[in-house]
Amino acid sequence: MDVVVVGAGIAGLSCARALAGAGARVRVVERGRVVGGRLASKRYNGRYTDIGAAYLVADDPGFAALVESWRARGIARPWTDTLRVYPGGAAVAGPTRWAAPGGLRSLAADLAGGLDVRLSTELDAIPQDADAVVLAMPGPQALRLSPPPAVAAAARAQTWRPVIAAVLTYPAREWGDLRGAFVNDHPTLATVCDDGDRRGDGAPVLVAHSTAALAAEHLDRPEAAGPVLAGAVGDLLGLSAEPEIAVHRWTFAQPEPSESTHAVDGRVWLCGDAFGRPRVQTAWLSGRAVARALLS
Ligand SMILES: Cc1cc2nc3c(=O)[nH]c(=O)nc-3n(C[C@H](O)[C@H](O)[C@H](O)COP(=O)(O)OP(=O)(O)OC[C@H]3O[C@@H](n4cnc5c(N)ncnc54)[C@H](O)[C@@H]3O)c2cc1C
Repeated sequence: MDVVVVGAGIAGLSCARALAGAGARVRVVERGRVVGGRLASKRYNGRYTDIGAAYLVADDPGFAALVESWRARGIARPWTDTLRVYPGGAAVAGPTRWAAPGGLRSLAADLAGGLDVRLSTELDAIPQDADAVVLAMPGPQALRLSPPPAVAAAARAQTWRPVIAAVLTYPAREWGDLRGAFVNDHPTLATVCDDGDRRGDGAPVLVAHSTAALAAEHLDRPEAAGPVLAGAVGDLLGLSAEPEIAVHRWTFAQPEPSESTHAVDGRVWLCGDAFGRPRVQTAWLSGRAVARALLS
């Protein structure tokens, strides 16, 4: 069986690994220069910072086994089970959140190891030379390839919210044991995480994620959202220093949750984190579900 997987995010890589492991011939095509998609780490001042997913949660046994294998090889680490919640700043315990010393994208790079991945290759149509084509990406991106009706309908049914991420690099660490925080009922700021803490190198770097409202206002000029987010973080944490600011726009950041694991029409499949709760684990499970369906 010849399969083309379009998209080297966690869903596409999960699908491709499961297929390749069962003996299928798999080619992964990715428009970006690196793998990972929204599992994204970008280099600022010579250091990787996580600008997409903030952490992983692994409560599915299969995904937990993968995360544990990453831990055993030193590329993932349990970060924290306690995050703050604002207003108020109370420390609230929850599931273990996992981070990666080399940045979360290093986990996608690990999954891609040994696979035939063609980078910097953007497709604008469904490839004809394959028994199956897996579109492993947000529905609005899949629609650009004019998929067949049932896949197009599933893609159109998805609802997405944008996020702008601001990487805030301070002269020194001025905050205490923040780790990370959810910020409720704030007009511009949704979360803030201590990137030096989660990566384990103690760098004075915070990453703020905007509300969908702020991102929607600034999709054309995301850099204008940077000072807004820096100001909100400074006020929240009582910081006096001005940070260096870099921003990244995620137009399709977070989907509304749905029930199914994937969509299919003939030889064209659609998977990704819109099939379940919007998380890395969901994307991995969705990609694996398509691989299993293809193999059966
Ligand atoms: C700001 C933010 C914060 C988040 N926080 C968390 C968190 O804390 N915990 C968590 O679990 N999850 C979090 N997530 C969600 C998590 O990042 C996603 O669930 C997961 O990474 C989605 O993987 P995916 O493979 O489904 O999609 P993506 O990662 O979007 O991968 C799709 C890939 O397809 C490629 N592509 C698209 N069109 C084409 C084309 N035409 N040709 C070739 N390639 C194409 C894209 O370049 C991309 O690499 C967050 C996401 C964002 C944006």
